[in-house]
Amino acid sequence: MQERHLKGNIITEEQVFFGTLSIADKRIARIEKQGEMRLDANWITPGFIDVHTHGIGPYGADVPQGPLGMATFAPPTGLTGVCPTLAADTPENLLAFTKEVRELVKSPNPQITKILGSHLEGPFIDFKHKGGMDERFVRGADLEEARRLLDAADGTLKLMTISPELDGAEAVISLMTQAGVTVSMGHTGCSKEQKDMAVAAGATQVCHLFDTFDGRRVEHGVSKPCLADCVLIDDRLQKELICDGIHVPQDLITLAHRVAGAEHLIAITDSLAGAGLPTGATFPMEGGRMMFMSDVARLVDNPECIVGSCLTMDKVFCNLITRFGFTPVEAAMMTATNPAKCCHEDHVRGLLKVGFFADIAVVSPEFDVLETILEGNTIYSR
Ligand SMILES: [Zn+2]
Repeated sequence: MQERHLKGNIITEEQVFFGTLSIADKRIARIEKQGEMRLDANWITPGFIDVHTHGIGPYGADVPQGPLGMATFAPPTGLTGVCPTLAADTPENLLAFTKEVRELVKSPNPQITKILGSHLEGPFIDFKHKGGMDERFVRGADLEEARRLLDAADGTLKLMTISPELDGAEAVISLMTQAGVTVSMGHTGCSKEQKDMAVAAGATQVCHLFDTFDGRRVEHGVSKPCLADCVLIDDRLQKELICDGIHVPQDLITLAHRVAGAEHLIAITDSLAGAGLPTGATFPMEGGRMMFMSDVARLVDNPECIVGSCLTMDKVFCNLITRFGFTPVEAAMMTATNPAKCCHEDHVRGLLKVGFFADIAVVSPEFDVLETILEGNTIYSR
């Protein structure tokens, strides 16, 4: 059997060291330590998994063929796994998206980023916390619609974001959890009690912590804990974090790091179509306006206005280590291991471990992706 050997700074579950990782027949066959980490060596890190992205390159999840386009454009960013994410939309569009992703999961293309399943961010979302969602499509929790979506997904719906304070949310959370869907609470202003109800019903995750969250109230000079505070100290919940330093300012990322710890954080991009295009590129938006892509997506005619994220996971990996003070082991945990857990893939991917799939990003010391490997197969090489 043909073996392949990669040399570099290998990031495992516990440590980073210089060594050789051997791949045989799709899987990691051996990992050998040969010394301490070297400053001039490439990173050998678990392939990145993004469980919350609405678009990559010119493709958005909200158009037919969009999820396939996202997975086709993703390999240069080191992404080996993705859950295309659709925000609140019409019942017909949600069903069509769910079915399209189901077909892509059931007949995978080994040459592109693996589509692990779908993420529905909504439509059962609190109107007051809808953020950038289209208000026409945000609606109350509907058990019948939830059942139809589960049927259409046939086991490929991985993640659903729900606001716990909605009437009927508890029943939908239970239904989803029992069907193996990870439930993420988000776009919410729920009370601590409602948060605990959602956890009791099966919710295990929080959608983009700090984004669309209300701040603390002050009563008679006393700060009351807000939902973000309660969530941060609740170790039953994994917290999604947009790691660009803009959607979540650096101090809040540090707060999440110190309070929740990397083991409870899932790095996401929450990116829109346009993510990964070169800085300065413009992109059409609904309403005919254009976006200017740099660190974030901005309106061309009003650059102060942020439209959304155009992060990619290779930038996230770089930001975590070079800007936000995470160790390489923590960065791998947040960009691969924890997202793999959230879509129940952690028994085969998300870690550099003998016997696991060889899903790997080879990243230069300058944090450029040099090669992306999915199940032992090179899907991108610079
Ligand atoms: Zn989103």
